[in-house]
Amino acid sequence: MPRIAFIGLGRMGHGMAGRYLDAGFNVAVWNRSKAKAEDLIARGAQWATSPEDAAIDADAVVTMVADDEASRRVWLGNDGAAATMKPGTLAIECSTVSYAHALALSRELHERGLVYIDCPVTGLPEAAASGKLTLLVGANPADLETARPYLAPLATTIRHFGAVGTGTVFKLINNLLGAVQIASLAEGIAIAEQAGLDMTLVAEALATGAVASPQVIRHSKRMITRDFSGASFTAALRRKDAAYAIALAETLLAGVPVGRAALAAYDRATEVAPDDDEGRMIEIVSRPK
Ligand code: NAP
Repeated sequence: MPRIAFIGLGRMGHGMAGRYLDAGFNVAVWNRSKAKAEDLIARGAQWATSPEDAAIDADAVVTMVADDEASRRVWLGNDGAAATMKPGTLAIECSTVSYAHALALSRELHERGLVYIDCPVTGLPEAAASGKLTLLVGANPADLETARPYLAPLATTIRHFGAVGTGTVFKLINNLLGAVQIASLAEGIAIAEQAGLDMTLVAEALATGAVASPQVIRHSKRMITRDFSGASFTAALRRKDAAYAIALAETLLAGVPVGRAALAAYDRATEVAPDDDEGRMIEIVSRPK
């Protein structure tokens, strides 16, 4: 069976690595903190002592870490995966990184003879663990065909946007739109609460009206009931994505005031509770005048 090195076993990566085990791949895993790997090791994964150790003899290396800094570290750091990858090996970056980082990393890995696939994802941790992610790919078409057998265990949908970096462009606009929706939803719900509306009726009206996007449907229920249990996306990760989206926008547009306002809301949410569910934004904006 093909050999995968999987690096980054957080809420998303842990489930994704498990999908390769379920599909019968040989899987080497590395995570900064080993505890998150224990049950995968019990299921047959091999523990690697570093990203470069994981990448020895791998046919593909897949990474799912927090941000640009973590991505640079696991690919290009002193013990990074690139050090031991054989020329022609697939380098599949699933983390949400900045556009500038995706292009720079792709260049560095290409110069070492590696095949870079830009592959951020949408879907919550439960979709990651059940192989139901959507993959947002930027890649040379032939490289994507080579990569398909390594992407198949992760996803029900693969969207190919174009050259390397285009998957990241889409991911960043998608998550900036999400930031705008969630930040403005918190304000709308807070206004309705302070004005004394029947919040059961508000929840029903939001979930069935013209603004009822999947984000609004999911987060309106959670915010109104203040129940943030279940799969989650943190304020810090959304803030990071919004900041990366705005950095990209600044290279293309004269201004993005709505995106900037959402980023400011997430700056505040990240100061207060970086690792909590992003829906807790409601607790920050719902303070009465
Ligand atoms: P997470 O649970 O916070 O996991 C982050 C991972 O990155 C962990 O494995 C962490 O290692 C590792 N990491 C962080 N800093 C590092 C560093 N400096 N060096 C090495 N490893 C480092 O986050 P997640 O929710 O799985 O998200 C992972 C990526 O997927 C992010 O880019 C996120 O934006 C994206 N994403 C998330 C979701 C979601 O719903 N959660 C959905 C789509 C995309 P430790 O375990 O040692 O801390």
